[in-house]
Amino acid sequence: MLALQLTSDGMRLAEVPEPEPGPGEVLVEVTAAGLCHSDLTVAARRPDELGFALPVVLGHELAGTVAQVGAGVDGWQAGDAVAGYGPRGCGTCTGCVGGRVNYCRVGSDRRPPGLGADGALAQYVVVEAGSLVAADGVPALQAAALTDAGLTAHHAIARTGVGEGAVVVVIGVGGLGHAAVQLLRERGCRIVALDVEQAKLDLALRLGAEAALTSVRGVEGDIADLTHGEGVDAVLDFVASDATLGLAAGVLGRDGVLSIVGVGAGRLPVGMHAVALGTRVDTPFWGTREELVEVLDLCRSGRLTLEVESVGLEDVEAAYARLAAGQVLGRVAAVPRAGTAERR
Ligand code: NAD
Ligand code: ZN
Ligand code: ZN
Repeated sequence: MLALQLTSDGMRLAEVPEPEPGPGEVLVEVTAAGLCHSDLTVAARRPDELGFALPVVLGHELAGTVAQVGAGVDGWQAGDAVAGYGPRGCGTCTGCVGGRVNYCRVGSDRRPPGLGADGALAQYVVVEAGSLVAADGVPALQAAALTDAGLTAHHAIARTGVGEGAVVVVIGVGGLGHAAVQLLRERGCRIVALDVEQAKLDLALRLGAEAALTSVRGVEGDIADLTHGEGVDAVLDFVASDATLGLAAGVLGRDGVLSIVGVGAGRLPVGMHAVALGTRVDTPFWGTREELVEVLDLCRSGRLTLEVESVGLEDVEAAYARLAAGQVLGRVAAVPRAGTAERR
């Protein structure tokens, strides 16, 4: 089958053997696999910094159809529409037992598909049966992007605790950010979106932002005016450069929340009087399985519809280049069609 591998020489489309499900595992025929900015960060690392072996198939946003179940698997059968829950944990620590596998305190030998184990940018992927969530009634492109872009945004917002009337700044209206704008709209928040691309600002306004501003020095004054000088209740930073973190700290009001979701290399000095009094800083990671079920339900009810462009596996490398250049609106997902390999 065709697969997009990360190798020690970078990404490459390769012909690889079709995987087989072992005990407790499921073979999923991929219907859509989302491209995340984190893949670019991973691909930019030196192989010895990765903590897992190469080559590996990329793709940690999985939607698919159950093709075959391994021995001892109950609850799934061929033809079921599924989405992949990514985080892997030890299963026994307080994080895992409390349903917060994304904050497993021990760690697991098992890596998430696409982030160490072979992932979804292929015609088929094998995953543990327990990592699947029912995705019936959710279009494949949506389900794929919801497993990370949707889930991570939802989790980050839930942890801020913002509700009706809160003023929230979203920095970076990309895959995660455009999901965040919609989720905040559904909570009745007032949204100020920041990006460096006009098309993203236009998208934010279409999705419910009250204001959409170019993310440059000096924009703090415009944001202060929107809150009559009080400062905003929360900032979700999906970029996390020194500049965006500084901007975030500059616009937050007292008792606000700074959620650093982006994996940028920026750093913010935090301490008494270095940031507004009462500032809470969060570094959320991915989300819980329960929250994945919630975002799939939000999509089913029409309250969350991600902007997802589809490409064939053969166009994934070019799509990653566009993602790196900031030229993707919303999310891109690959739609690997079984049989493509034979036709090439
Ligand atoms: P993306 O490329 O789709 O979106 C990034 C957006 O930021 C783009 O719209 C881009 O135009 C905009 N941008 C770039 N520089 C900017 C600036 N200075 N000011 C304002 N906007 C700017 O990326 P994505 O897939 O949505 O991921 C966003 C970030 O979140 C990445 O760093 C990714 O690695 C990270 N991420 C974190 C988690 C987590 O669990 N914490 C999960 C997934 C992704
Ligand atoms: Zn991701
Ligand atoms: Zn654990």
